[in-house]
Amino acid sequence: MAAPVILGRPRELQRWSDRVRASGMTLGLVPTMGALHAGHRSLIERARRECDRVVVSIFVNPAQFGPGEDLDRYPRTLEADLALCGECGVDAVFVPTVEAMYPGGATTRVEVGGSLGGVLEAEHRPGHFGGVATVVTKLLTAARPARAYFGQKDAQQCAVVRRLAADLDTGAEIVVCPTVRDADGLALSSRNVYLSPDQRRQALAIPRALGAAARAWEAGERSPDRLREIAARVLGEAPELRPDYVAVVDPETFDEPSDGCVRCEILIAARIGGTRLIDVIRPGLDDPPVVDGEGCPSGETDTESNAACSASS
Ligand code: AMP
Repeated sequence: MAAPVILGRPRELQRWSDRVRASGMTLGLVPTMGALHAGHRSLIERARRECDRVVVSIFVNPAQFGPGEDLDRYPRTLEADLALCGECGVDAVFVPTVEAMYPGGATTRVEVGGSLGGVLEAEHRPGHFGGVATVVTKLLTAARPARAYFGQKDAQQCAVVRRLAADLDTGAEIVVCPTVRDADGLALSSRNVYLSPDQRRQALAIPRALGAAARAWEAGERSPDRLREIAARVLGEAPELRPDYVAVVDPETFDEPSDGCVRCEILIAARIGGTRLIDVIRPGLDDPPVVDGEGCPSGETDTESNAACSASS
């Protein structure tokens, strides 16, 4: 398989993408901050299946990090990332420098309004979604892909991107892919490398809490307050985990669900040590995660989906 073309400037991404579209091919874009793992890989593979050409962007975007966040220590593993892109048959990788993305004089910022742009992640990470919306708009404008791929794990980001893609007539279809979990149930994240073994064990309270709330939903519980309580109680069992929020929201607006949680998302953000983790479940749509093999005959789980026990007795 040919190695992907490396593109370093927005202008190069534009030219390359123009050629793809001019030859009648569909283009898929997968925006990432690198340190690629199986979650990113699932997005890339989906794009590979659905589009004639695939471009992955790797850019640790300073505009979406607040003061005191982990911009400087964010894992950077470019060589391994390029190898993974090659293995997956990616056609081009866009790896701009900060200067190439934000040359001196750039002052335009894209902001998504409404509750969506103001609650939960927006409250806890002021300026974060402005940075995300700006960089995603720049990527969509330069590449003009038929489809762009995002992960459900970052649920509010998905809603922000869907909103801006529609409001700004980008013409791109925003494809949201399911959360990929490690065998122990923790959602894969580039930030998981920060966790000590003990912190990781405690972090499993997050998928466990989401699972408990989702199972209550499956048993007929529709009160957002009750679902929040159920999740919060499980989180409380991990002594060092400090929740930023446990929320039950409408997936589009991020307001309280108006239909009594017939269609809702349950979201958790929590800190442990210096690491901040987020996770989400869509009751009725996502299988409750199997955490640390709990409930499996031999304590084993299916690593791919983490939705089932791999060894059946
Ligand atoms: P990031 O590099 O963390 O900015 O993530 C790039 C894209 O990969 C985003 O759309 C994320 O939502 C998605 N992503 C990250 N982790 C996962 C995961 N565990 N499962 C599925 N998608 C993910």
